[in-house]
Amino acid sequence: MIGKKLQTDRLEQLVARNASLARFTAARLGGEADWLYHARNGEEEMIAVVQEAWQRGWSVRVLGKGANVLIAPRGVRGLVVINENHSVRCTELHDDLAVIQVSSGVSLGSLARFAQRRGIAGLEWLATVPGTIGGAVVNNAGAHGGDISSSLTKAEILIKGQGRCNIPAHEMEYAYRNSRWKAAPEKDFLILFAELTMPRGDPQQIEQRMQQLKTLRKQTQPAGASLGSIFKNPAGDHAGRIIEAAGLKGYRVGKVEVSHKHANFFINRGTEVSAADAADYDELIQRVQSKVWERCGIQLQLEIEHIGEW
Ligand SMILES: Cc1cc2nc3c(=O)[nH]c(=O)nc-3n(C[C@H](O)[C@H](O)[C@H](O)COP(=O)(O)OP(=O)(O)OC[C@H]3O[C@@H](n4cnc5c(N)ncnc54)[C@H](O)[C@@H]3O)c2cc1C
Repeated sequence: MIGKKLQTDRLEQLVARNASLARFTAARLGGEADWLYHARNGEEEMIAVVQEAWQRGWSVRVLGKGANVLIAPRGVRGLVVINENHSVRCTELHDDLAVIQVSSGVSLGSLARFAQRRGIAGLEWLATVPGTIGGAVVNNAGAHGGDISSSLTKAEILIKGQGRCNIPAHEMEYAYRNSRWKAAPEKDFLILFAELTMPRGDPQQIEQRMQQLKTLRKQTQPAGASLGSIFKNPAGDHAGRIIEAAGLKGYRVGKVEVSHKHANFFINRGTEVSAADAADYDELIQRVQSKVWERCGIQLQLEIEHIGEW
C-alpha cells in the first residue's frame, strides 16, 4: 500500500465478500458481513481501508475478539474490520511508573504478559478477560477490582469527518461497562491506540497475582463458547445470583444453555459455527430477562451488544 489513500480497486483486493463472522466471535455464532477486512498490516492500511469505506458510504464496524457481541443471523451490512494489529511498547519506564502505548488490536492477555515481564503492575486482571484493547476501551472492560478507565490516560481515535484525534480518558464518559463509544448510536470511529499509565511492581508478585486470578476464574466461571456476562450486575447484587434464584440454571433454547456453573453465562453447546443459532442465543436472553422480571421483579440490563440486522 502506498501513501495514506488506497489506490484504485485496492479495497476490493483487501476485503472478502459475504464472509461468515461466526468464527470471529467468542460465542461462535452469527451471520455474514457484506465485506470483511482483516487488519493485520498495520494501522496505516487499516485507516486507509476504513476511510475508503466511509467515502463509499458503507457503514463500518470494528471487532476485536468478538467477545461481547451477538451477531445477527442475517449478518452485518457494510464493512466489518477484524482488528489484529498488535504492537505494544513502553514509552516511559521509571522506577515508580510506566507509560505504555498499545495498538487497539492487542489482546488483553498479551498486554498482561507484556506488563508482567517488565514489572508493570495493575494489569493482572487483563489476563482473565478475553478481548482486545479496542473492545476494552469501548466497553470499559474490568474484572477483580480493576477496569480500563482506571489506567487509560488517552486514546488515539479515527473519527469520521475529523481524522485522527487524541481523546483524553476524562472525555470518554466512563461508567460501569460503558463509555460514550459504547453508547454512540452511530459507530463512526475506530480506536487506534491506547495509552496506559501504570505503577511499577515486582514481576514475581505480578505473576503470582495473575495466576491467582486465573485460578479463581476457572473455579467460578464456565469454559465453552459464550459471551461472558450477558447482563450487567444491578447495583449491590449479581445478575448470576438473580438468574439462579429465578430457577433458570440449565434453562435451554436449542443448543444454547444457561450455565450450571455461573447463571449469567450462556453457553453455545453447538459444535459447528452457526448463523441460525444466534437467534436461539437471543431468544434465551429475552426469555431469561422476562422470566427474571416475572419471578423477581428485576429488570436486567444487557452488558453484551447486539450487532447487525436483527
Ligand atoms: C468468557 C468471557 C469472559 C468475560 N469476562 C469479562 C470480564 O470479566 N469483564 C469484562 O469487562 N468483560 C468480560 N467479557 C466480555 C469481553 O471480554 C469484553 O467486553 C471485551 O472488552 C471485549 O473485547 P473485544 O475486543 O472482543 O470486543 P468486541 O466484542 O469485538 O467488540 C465490543 C465493542 O467494541 C467495539 N470495538 C472493538 N474494537 C474496536 C476498535 N478498535 N475501534 C472501535 N470499536 C471497537 C465493537 O464494535 C463493539 O461495539 C467476557 C467475555 C467472555 C467471552
